[in-house]
Amino acid sequence: MAKFVVLLGPPGAGKGTQAEIIAEKLAIPHISSGDLFRENLKNETELGKKAKGFMDAGKLVPDEITISMVAERLSRTDCNQGAILDGFPRTPYQAHELDIILAEKGNTICCVPYIMVSDQDLLERLTGRWTCKAAGHIYHAKFNPPKDPGICDIDGSSLYQRDDDKKETIEKRLAVFHEQTAPLIAYYREKNLLVEVDGTQPIEQVTTALLKTVTSVA
Ligand code: ADP
Ligand code: ADP
Repeated sequence: MAKFVVLLGPPGAGKGTQAEIIAEKLAIPHISSGDLFRENLKNETELGKKAKGFMDAGKLVPDEITISMVAERLSRTDCNQGAILDGFPRTPYQAHELDIILAEKGNTICCVPYIMVSDQDLLERLTGRWTCKAAGHIYHAKFNPPKDPGICDIDGSSLYQRDDDKKETIEKRLAVFHEQTAPLIAYYREKNLLVEVDGTQPIEQVTTALLKTVTSVA
């Protein structure tokens, strides 16, 4: 049975960090809408050009653009056994469309871990986040430093701080989360899919809690 997991949580909660680890353990792809947008920005595609202004402003990219991009990614054969979705859906409309996209192939979401962290902690996490240029591997100056400063442990590429990881944009993104994404908590709770996870624990402990959740559901 294919396993589609939606990781829900505010910016900086640890979705990308955890998705990478869990996807490898379950041998299914990690699909990050943010990474897909950044890939398009890097390659200067039409989609990247459309998304850039919204991302720089800390706003959500419009639903139509986002949904078709993720739908295309989910249509690839490497998703036949499932996927870990990170950063998508982020609006009730996206959540509704995801249900339809999955249902077309007889699939459903198996669980929605909600990684909870306070806004104050999120600010510290995001201002200290370093991301690898080649593949988006994630580090933190204090909480998860690379072995060599500025260099990715995994692929040796250089690390950079994202343009949207500056204080004013972070504050905007957190407000957007509370306004537009937080309604998904109730949406998935009603469907009995939501599992709250304490995201303030160290990375390994969050991984353990998430693995327990995703392996306990069919
Ligand atoms: P974070 O990891 O900090 O939560 P992401 O990498 O997921 O940030 O997203 C970066 C930006 O990409 C968002 O601020 C938004 O502009 C855009 N984006 C990513 N996912 C979505 C989505 N599902 N819907 C709309 N915009 C999105
Ligand atoms: P998201 O994808 O939800 O935006 P990330 O996985 O990019 O979040 O994590 C945001 C920042 O917080 C990164 O710098 C990451 O290294 C760090 N981080 C992730 N999980 C934890 C944790 N459990 N404790 C402390 N820092 C963490």
